[in-house]
Amino acid sequence: MTTPHRRIGVLGGTFDPIHHGHLAAASEVAAALRLDQVLLVPVNSQPFKLDRLAAPPEHRLEMCRLAVEGDERLAVSDVDVVRGGVTYTLDTLTDLHEQMPDALLHFITGSDALARLHEWKDAERLTELARFIGVTRPGHSLPDLDMAHTLVEVPAMAVSSTDVRRRVRAGAPIRYLVPRAVADYIAEHDLYAGGMDD
Ligand code: ATP
Ligand code: MG
Repeated sequence: MTTPHRRIGVLGGTFDPIHHGHLAAASEVAAALRLDQVLLVPVNSQPFKLDRLAAPPEHRLEMCRLAVEGDERLAVSDVDVVRGGVTYTLDTLTDLHEQMPDALLHFITGSDALARLHEWKDAERLTELARFIGVTRPGHSLPDLDMAHTLVEVPAMAVSSTDVRRRVRAGAPIRYLVPRAVADYIAEHDLYAGGMDD
């Protein structure tokens, strides 16, 4: 008998900071697709967000590690941070495939982004490396997909990292939007307190 392939989810993001929307999405996809594990993969730097300075990758990585503690279905990968530079999904999936050649990779992304997958750089190679899973986010309707992708509806969690950063700057509570350890980390390291654009 052959060992079944491990089913691994890959949720990339800036995670600046990680919040309960990310965790709920990862958990929902893991359950819906019977994944063995979902890897949260913080980007080093984002090709589309070069105008805004994100918190240093070490902080974003550490907050992800704190957030997944105690849930063995979730883990964190530092492949993108270790590689450095601008993060491209093709490099993320290529490196993860090299680290786990037997794994069936499931790349999880917003369904709006997925609807435009054919416009992504190296789209064909990407779909060879992983299955693409679209999650529907609150306020987004289901897009018309021209390719047979899997869609998973996640519970409405109207929280974004932008909102969390704004709240920290305004002194508004974030206690129930991010895991407690992440809220403590933000306070301890004085992240998002000022000087940023959003
Ligand atoms: P920002 O506000 O800075 O854009 P964000 O909250 O969108 O941050 P990202 O790190 O950009 O967080 O998101 C990483 C991934 O998580 C993306 O695929 C995004 O679609 C998804 N995601 C973010 N927020 C939610 C949410 N509330 N529910 C479900 N998925 C989410
Ligand atoms: Mg975003």
